[in-house]
Amino acid sequence: MILPQFDVLVPETVNEACAMLAEHAEHGVRVLAGGTDLLVNLRRPIITQHVPRCDGCRTHPEGAVSSTIDCTMWESEPLMASGGSLRTLLRDQEKTSPEFLVSLHKLKELKNIRRSDDGGLRIGALTTLAEIQRSPEIRQDYTALAEGTDNLGSPLVRNRGTLGGNIVNARPAADAAVPTIGLGAMLTLHGKSGTRSVPAEGFPTAPGKTIIEPDELLTEIVYPLSPTYSGSAYYKLANRKALEISTVGVAVWVILEKPGGPVADVRVALGAVGPTPILAKSVPAVLIGKVPDKAAIAEAAEAAAGDCRPIDDHRGSAWYRVQMVEVLTGRLLKIAVERAGTTT
Ligand SMILES: Cc1cc2nc3c(=O)[nH]c(=O)nc-3n(C[C@H](O)[C@H](O)[C@H](O)COP(=O)(O)OP(=O)(O)OC[C@H]3O[C@@H](n4cnc5c(N)ncnc54)[C@H](O)[C@@H]3O)c2cc1C
Repeated sequence: MILPQFDVLVPETVNEACAMLAEHAEHGVRVLAGGTDLLVNLRRPIITQHVPRCDGCRTHPEGAVSSTIDCTMWESEPLMASGGSLRTLLRDQEKTSPEFLVSLHKLKELKNIRRSDDGGLRIGALTTLAEIQRSPEIRQDYTALAEGTDNLGSPLVRNRGTLGGNIVNARPAADAAVPTIGLGAMLTLHGKSGTRSVPAEGFPTAPGKTIIEPDELLTEIVYPLSPTYSGSAYYKLANRKALEISTVGVAVWVILEKPGGPVADVRVALGAVGPTPILAKSVPAVLIGKVPDKAAIAEAAEAAAGDCRPIDDHRGSAWYRVQMVEVLTGRLLKIAVERAGTTT
């Protein structure tokens, strides 16, 4: 990996980190968490003929070698022209190499999993994906999040990659961000002028873009209480079981009034079928108040499919993705309802 030159700043506190981000904003500064996205994106093409091109998107004709820097399409993950074993994401923010990286590795207070006063769960942004995957508490009460990490990258990636990085990276297919939206989490953003809390579904605005301000850090992800009769599930549909980006990702969360129904609340989040991970907003109107039987679940799954906005790319056609959203939403609602009914 060939990286541009930069200086690494190591703050001891969150406030110091925000001050560094503000101070160096004009010269180019980036936050470094696990580095599994950032360092890959910052690397330079190794051989000149490895010109990044946009593969399979409408902006450039198939086979053309064009710079991804000019490509505005959201969906394609550009492949290297020479074959595809090397992959890079040159998003807007990586066009200019930063002069500074603010490394968060000393901020131990951002690395924890703890209960909120109201019984919800607070996860520090620096908590690794492996720590989430291993947590029995998360697997029991926030199953969709645990399942989101199960097939994310590889053990090496999960050992370094953080939950915060997966969310701030704002990929449409981010496997931990999709269940985070499905489970109704709030994100805590800390900046020079204070702290604010925003719903996870409103955080990403476009591929690689979010509402975070240049001096802000994502410090914590706050999941609401998982009620007694609730259950959740996530499924990643991909061409391989590991080291693969989702073709479609679906997370569902169901809360029942009692085992067997009716449905008190439901959320369905979708990955890789829009410019950002999205919340399927039509589903609650279809399912809340109904017993989640086969017909009601089928109607809700159809509604979720109507909410997505996929495009064709090398991982799957838009048509295929819509079909898969419907199939997977139906299956996962059934699983989540079963899990909700058996919660003790
Ligand atoms: C081989 C490989 C396979 C992968 N497979 C998958 C996969 O299957 N599914 C998937 O979803 N992802 C995958 N990824 C992407 C990546 O591992 C995850 O997105 C990971 O969670 C990123 O976390 P990180 O800590 O490494 O982030 P970093 O690379 O350190 O940062 C990512 C971005 O977020 C910003 N950032 C990080 N933390 C904060 C914070 N607390 N506050 C503000 N800004 C912050 C950084 O500035 C940067 O822009 C893969 C990556 C690799 C290299």
